Amino acid sequence: MLIDAHVHLDKYGDLLDQALSEIDAQRIFTVATAMDVPSYLELRKIAERSPFILPTFGVHPRRAAEYVDRLPELGRYLEMSPAIGEIGLDFHWVKDTATYPAQRKVLEYFIASAGEQNKFVNLHTKAGEKEILDLLAKYKVRRAIIHWYSGPLDILNAMIDYGCYFTIGVELLYSDYIKTIAQAVPDHLLLTETDNPGALKWLKKHDDLGMPNAIKSVIAALAEVRDASPEKIETVVQQNFARLIGDDPGLRNVARVFRQP
Ligand SMILES: [Zn+2]
Repeated sequence: MLIDAHVHLDKYGDLLDQALSEIDAQRIFTVATAMDVPSYLELRKIAERSPFILPTFGVHPRRAAEYVDRLPELGRYLEMSPAIGEIGLDFHWVKDTATYPAQRKVLEYFIASAGEQNKFVNLHTKAGEKEILDLLAKYKVRRAIIHWYSGPLDILNAMIDYGCYFTIGVELLYSDYIKTIAQAVPDHLLLTETDNPGALKWLKKHDDLGMPNAIKSVIAALAEVRDASPEKIETVVQQNFARLIGDDPGLRNVARVFRQP
């Protein structure tokens, strides 16, 4: 089974039906990450339409300033969500430094909750890599997916030592630096993502929205840079996702779906 561990399914608009058919036809297990509360509620509705979708609640660093004074209100969504994301820090693309304290406060709230509730997290780390690793250690969050890592190699290695998983995505098709990262991640921590539907557009490689099948291009590119077959990459990623889920009681349904042959 294909694993797409970081997707913004609520952003497909008119193409949602087509995206869901591709997910079902290709059996792409999809972690549908939220940006904020409305996004999470929408993802929960979308997930009712396919067994291959896991909606997860988070507040993206770009939305942190809107939520920083309302954190207690978020508790009920956290309780509902079997995993947490998208959360993180962005001190690179987000230029408004006035939001940075809010980003830090919101992220710490989510990571502390993930530690208490023993849930895995899906992290955006742009220029906040070291701080994020320190927070994971502080709150003993052992199960973390680092999405689209593009930071320094020394922190990459520290995260590997800690046991973080890494979703490699579509930028692998275009960037030598991402190739270096894709080669450095050990087999047992490798995962895949598309960050659909906006990633290819954002990279200015595409005018259209990215469709779920893009995960196959990622796997093909990973096979090339890691000198393995696409089948091997697919198997390794599936095994890793199974290990990440483990016997998490909140993810039993997920485990059932994606362990099917
Ligand atoms: Zn994202």
